[in-house]
Amino acid sequence: MQYKLGVIGDPIRHSLSPKIHNIFSKQTNIDIDYQAYHVLENNLDKFLKDFFSEGGDGLNITLPHKVNCLRSVNSNSSLVNLIGAANTLHIDSSGLILAESTDGIGLMKDLKNKCSISSKNILILGAGGSALSIIPSIDACKPRNIILDNRSKDKLEKVIGRFFNSKEIYSNILNLENFNEHIDLVVNATSIGFSGSFSWSKDLKINNETILYDLSYSKNNSHTPFLEWGNQYTDKCFDGFGMLIQQAAASFELWTGVAPETKITKLDLLND
Ligand code: NDP
Repeated sequence: MQYKLGVIGDPIRHSLSPKIHNIFSKQTNIDIDYQAYHVLENNLDKFLKDFFSEGGDGLNITLPHKVNCLRSVNSNSSLVNLIGAANTLHIDSSGLILAESTDGIGLMKDLKNKCSISSKNILILGAGGSALSIIPSIDACKPRNIILDNRSKDKLEKVIGRFFNSKEIYSNILNLENFNEHIDLVVNATSIGFSGSFSWSKDLKINNETILYDLSYSKNNSHTPFLEWGNQYTDKCFDGFGMLIQQAAASFELWTGVAPETKITKLDLLND
C-alpha cells in the first residue's frame, strides 16, 4: 500500500516537509507519495474535498490555512477545539476527516533533553497560532507559570481569556506586564523570523541561566535573529528545527501507525 500524503500552504516552495517525510519513509519502509501543494485561500475547500475523495490519507497544513482548513473536516481533536487551528489532517477507517495539532507535542519532545518545564517560569513571546498550539502541552508539564507577551495587546488579552475561560484547568497564565520573577525559558513564537534584527519592547528578565528557544529555525548552523540577540545574555540557545522534525514525526505516526526515528540533522536535509 502507498500512502497519499502532502503539505498545503501559500507559499509552500520552501517547505522541508517533503524531504523529512521521505526520510521517514525510507527509514520505516513505508511507501508514501508526499507532495507539496500550493493552495490559495479561494481554492482551499475544493482542494481538501478533492484530495480526500480521491484517496488522500493525510495532509500537513501550514500558513495560512491552519484555521480555515477546519471548515472541511468532520471532527476535531479536543486540542484543536481549544486552540481553533490544526496542522495535520488524517482520515479514519470510516472515511471521516479528523483534525489534529502536533506542534505542541513536537515542541515538548524536542525540549525533553534540553530543559525541564516542571515548576519553571516559561515566557512565550507571540499570541498567534503557534503560541496557542504549544500552551496546552507546556501546561501539561506543570510549569510554575506560563507568562505571555505579544506586540498587540488585544490579541494577548484574547489568548489569556481563551485559556482562562476553557473547561480545562490551566496553571497560571499571566501577562508579562504583571510579572517580576526570574524567567527560566523564553519561547519565541512570533513570526519575526529572519526579518531583520530582533528587539522586544519590554525587559525579558533573562540572565545566563535562562534557556532560549526559537520556533523559527535556520537551515544551517547560523543563529536566528532572536537567538543572535539572546546570545549576548546566555549560551543556552536552541532553534525550532528539532520541533519541526518532531511534529512531522507525530503526523507520520498518525497516518501510518509507525513512529519514525527522529535523529535527523540539517545536513541530512541538505544532502537528501
Ligand atoms: P501567526 O501569524 O499566527 O502569529 C504571528 C505572531 O508574531 C503574532 O503574535 C504577531 O504579533 C507576532 N509578530 C509578527 N511580527 C512581529 C514583530 N515585528 N514584532 C513583534 N511581534 C511580531 O504565526 P504562527 O504563530 O503560526 O507562527 C509563528 C512562527 O513559528 C513562524 O515563524 C513559524 O514558522 C514558526 N513555527 C515553527 C514550527 C516548528 O515546527 N519549528 C511550527 C509552527 C510554527 P501581533 O499579534 O501583534 O501581530
